[in-house]
Amino acid sequence: MIIVLKQGATSEQVRHIEARIREWGLTPHVSQGTERIVIGVIGDEDLIRSRSLDMLPGVESVKSILKPYRLANAATKPTRTVLTIPPVRPGCTPVEIGGDRVVMIAGPCSVESREQLFEVAQCVKEYGGAVLRAGAFKPRTSPYSFQGLGHAGLDLLAEAREKFELPILTEVMDTRDVERVAQVVDIIQIGARNMQNFNLLKMAGGCGRPVLLKRGLSATIEELLMSAEYVLSAGNPMVLLCERGIRTFEPMTRNTLDLSAVPVLRRETHLPVAVDPSHGTGHWDLVAPMALAAVAAGADALTVEIHPRPEDALSDGSQALLPESFAGLMLRLADVARAVGRTMGTVA
Ligand code: PEP
Ligand code: MN
Repeated sequence: MIIVLKQGATSEQVRHIEARIREWGLTPHVSQGTERIVIGVIGDEDLIRSRSLDMLPGVESVKSILKPYRLANAATKPTRTVLTIPPVRPGCTPVEIGGDRVVMIAGPCSVESREQLFEVAQCVKEYGGAVLRAGAFKPRTSPYSFQGLGHAGLDLLAEAREKFELPILTEVMDTRDVERVAQVVDIIQIGARNMQNFNLLKMAGGCGRPVLLKRGLSATIEELLMSAEYVLSAGNPMVLLCERGIRTFEPMTRNTLDLSAVPVLRRETHLPVAVDPSHGTGHWDLVAPMALAAVAAGADALTVEIHPRPEDALSDGSQALLPESFAGLMLRLADVARAVGRTMGTVA
């Protein structure tokens, strides 16, 4: 931690700051520059952070040296984290996320019925998707909108998992559902609106399943990493970060997909990174270009919404790909993945 003093700070103020730092069990190092005095503080950064050093008389600013995300920090782990989703049953292939292969997580926004879910699952399986996603508990802006089938939706997902031999992913919104959802699904999702639901994050830290953590609507990359830190520090090292677009002033897209977050995250953390071009853009025709761009930018996984009849979808129809568009996208993704030294697929 570095404390920069105000121009003209008095020697009495310097002595007072030094004394307070020592009282807290830390060591001050005073450097007298030509214009300013700077005090380096050596000791436990968390302890220093918990004090409002900027409130001391004579202090202009306080700068942290260490990153606040310790476990997620790339510097603390030399190798990239690869999440392994075990085979759905013996003989099936495991799915690795964060390795050489770029993984497609796809499915409808919501589970609407067995027919609809199975139709989409068939398409995900056939065209090389690795994980089936679908929402059973839906975080809707309006209480009058479709809220998801809840536990009945979860049961249908479990059926689809067996029938299509695909690992499944669903969102959990309530701490009371975490245990049950984690028993059924292979990956749990914490959605954008719950990125800073700290109790939910702590529960996810004990759930024993990989967690897809989506960036909040107005969250900074550092805030996303601090939310990941909650899951990691609660004992779960299996976190997949997801860029899904942020709020900006631009109305032509539902959100602004921040693809620069991908290389930033790959620099800052060892955790794998996913991109959701469906929620990121809100329009089906923008999904493919942004999915291709995400792979070019270094994404380890994509999450994409599909619906066989988007006009009838109970949620997010306008951003859903038709099965044939999904098939075409998978082919084009394979080309881009190859161009950046990766492949699309599932196998370890
Ligand atoms: C979703 O994935 O279905 C979803 C609701 O996403 P987000 O939390 O990013 O809005
Ligand atoms: Mn959706």
